[in-house]
This record gives sequence, structure tokens and C-alpha cells, in this order.
Amino acid sequence: MTVYFIGAGPGDPDLITVKGARLVESCPVVLYTGSLVPKEVVARAREDALVLSSEDMDLDEIIEVCEQAHKEGKDVARVQTGDLSIYSSLAETTRRLDPLGIDWKVVPGVSSFQASAAALGQELTLPETCQTIILSRASGRTPVPEKENLKSLAEHEATLCLFLSASLIRKVARELKEVYPGHWPVAVVEKASHPQQRILRGTLDTIVDQVEGAGIRATAMIIVSKVLDHNEFRDSRLYAAEFSHGFRKARQGEEIDS
Ligand code: SAH
Repeated sequence: MTVYFIGAGPGDPDLITVKGARLVESCPVVLYTGSLVPKEVVARAREDALVLSSEDMDLDEIIEVCEQAHKEGKDVARVQTGDLSIYSSLAETTRRLDPLGIDWKVVPGVSSFQASAAALGQELTLPETCQTIILSRASGRTPVPEKENLKSLAEHEATLCLFLSASLIRKVARELKEVYPGHWPVAVVEKASHPQQRILRGTLDTIVDQVEGAGIRATAMIIVSKVLDHNEFRDSRLYAAEFSHGFRKARQGEEIDS
């Protein structure tokens, strides 16, 4: 018996992995985050499966479901939004399962920052302009370690993807303006990959009014990056004619890198 922690993807039921979908189809118990994972994602569960939403459960109750399934020798599909490596409560759950001798495995999913980039049609790294992506959140009711404060993250000028922060947009813009000029580009994607997806593009000066005006408070990704309006970047070396790598020999000139 195993508890499978499955990344459900950002919302579109087609954006779960084949492996994740097969497990949802085969597990006799399916426990999904009802507040964020749409019902269609777990609609592929078998007819006799016990399908439960964890929306109103606390951690003890979630563990009880796993324990009961363990006793009955039934696999559990624990289906959670996006990918389990980011703000998922995986760690606090698995450290409770280990002492109970319950096996578990993780199946990755498409994270909402990736679905947001796709919605924007945006590569988040650009040659010689930006080669780093920072995934973080603004500190609100949930504190963020002081060394990870937004201002210090912004100093890298990396692409910044902020989860769980839409309702804190005013604070985010204020803190980032201590490092960046007001015209620094920002995009907000609400419900990426859902039918109700909305995209706002603006700057640190405009985004607060845009987000508040649209009434966006949750299920939204804030992306702050110069890549959002940068067309003056160089082509990558990956497809450059003079560059050869493991799979392709250079057509002209010498090898630059590996
Ligand atoms: N593990 C998830 C993140 C869970 S935290 C993942 O990998 O995506 C919940 C936060 O994720 C939300 O506050 C929001 O910032 C973001 N989020 C989840 N689904 C989203 C979606 N469809 N579009 C935009 N942001 C989303």
C-alpha cells in the first residue's frame, strides 16, 4: 500500500501527467485539495473509488484517511495543485506517515508558475539578460525568513515569480520599488490554464490599481521581470550555427561551449 502524492497541475485537467492520471484512475482512495484542484481532474477516478475533498480537513483527518486505507491495503492518490515541491504541505504530511510505516511516493506536476509563463507566451530566462528564476512569496500572515525578504531577492534582477501574494500586491509593489524603477514590468496571471484565466500586464507603478480594479485576490501568479518587455536580447547559443554540443556538430567556426 502506498500514498501517491500527485501534482495535479495548475487547473486544466489535461495538464496532469500521464503517470498521475493513471494513478488517479487506479487508486481506490482519492483525496484531493477541493479548494484548488477542479473536480474534473479527479473525475477519472474509478466508479467504486472513495473520492474525498480535503478542503475541510485538518492534517489529523488527512492522516486518518491514509491510516484507514493502510489498514485496508488500499492505495491512496493524494492529489494537490501544481507541483508538490512548492507550498504543498508535503513535508508536514510525510513526516507523519513515516512513523506509521506508511509508504509514499511523489509524482511531479506542472506548477502554476509554468502555466502562467505559458499563458503569457513567455520564456522566463533570456540569453545574457536573465538566467535565474526565483520562486517565492510575500510575507503576510505566513512569515518569510528575513534573509529572503523581497528587497534582497529583487537585488538579483532575476525573474521573480510570487505565489500566494495577490492580496498583498500593494506591499509587493512598494517593497520592489525600493530596488526597481516604477516602469519595471510586472504581469499577473489569475487562474492560469482555467477557462476563467485572466492576464494583466503592467509596471510596478500601475499593477496595484490593475489588480485591485480587476478584483484579483487569490489563485494568481505575480511575475516581475525585465524579460517581460525585453526584445533586445541575443539569440541563445543552443541553436547558433557555430555552436556544437553533444547532439549537433558545429556547421562553421569553432566550438564555444559544451
Ligand atoms: N504547488 C502549487 C502552489 C500552491 S500555493 C504549484 O506548484 O503551483 C497556491 C498558489 O499557487 C496560489 O496562491 C497562486 O499564487 C498559485 N496558483 C495556483 N494555481 C494557480 C493558477 N492556476 N494560476 C495562477 N496561480 C496559481
